Amino acid sequence: TVRIHGISKSFGSLKVLDTIDLTLPAGSVTAILGPSGSGKSTLLRAINHLERVDSGFISVDGDLVGYRQNGETLYELKEKDILKRRADIGMVFQSFNLFPHLTVLENLIEAPMQVRGIDREQAIRLAGELLARVGLSDKIHAYPRQLSGGQQQRVAIARALALKPKVLLFDEPTSALDPELVGEVLDVIKELARTGTTLVIVTHEVGFAREVADTVVFMDGGHILEAGPPARIFSQADHPRTREFLAKVL
Ligand code: ATP
Ligand code: MG
Repeated sequence: TVRIHGISKSFGSLKVLDTIDLTLPAGSVTAILGPSGSGKSTLLRAINHLERVDSGFISVDGDLVGYRQNGETLYELKEKDILKRRADIGMVFQSFNLFPHLTVLENLIEAPMQVRGIDREQAIRLAGELLARVGLSDKIHAYPRQLSGGQQQRVAIARALALKPKVLLFDEPTSALDPELVGEVLDVIKELARTGTTLVIVTHEVGFAREVADTVVFMDGGHILEAGPPARIFSQADHPRTREFLAKVL
């Protein structure tokens, strides 16, 4: 379970996240929708401590992300310990971010060996399983540039899974893809949702959100205006801003 407790974040005088509270139960699928600049990416980055928040805290299964607590005071962890904690929180970006000079296999075994300390043979076995899961067993020795965008993104998902994260964050995972490649990536995410991985997905794919998410969160101006089951949000959102946004994208 991920608990987001009262987090705020400003860039200069711009408050990008304003006292955000959200709980993501283990195994849940949460879709985050909202206009450009509403704070969606900043929220995701805050969850894995890529962005340091000004106040509030985030915990994963009770462990604070990025901090340790001593009495009332929070102390930021050392970089090495942050990396360890971050391994529980996988992230998949719009732009894939594979290591271009490494093969698919090398991309997949790097982090498990470095961060989790598993041996090479075991890491290779795990990589093979994950590639089968995303339907790319035949690409194991390819370099990223030899793959389509959809294939690269599926490798990026496999790479995130290789650390066996407790939660996986997706920031517009299909936005950089040609339309005909979107489906293959959404299918992989759908499959993950079925297997009970805790997922948070920032997406403009409203149909996908409706089909796959347990909870849809609508953000605007650094606030969560709405959070609830898709059936309700898409048919009878509380807030006029939500209805206005959905009317445009549906
Ligand atoms: P989009 O749908 O366009 O991806 P978003 O909802 O993900 O938008 P964020 O990327 O979280 O929005 O940005 C929220 C606001 O914070 C924007 O106004 C953005 O310009 C600002 N912002 C984000 N990162 C920084 C930064 N490092 N420095 C200054 N301002 C930033
Ligand atoms: Mg964004």
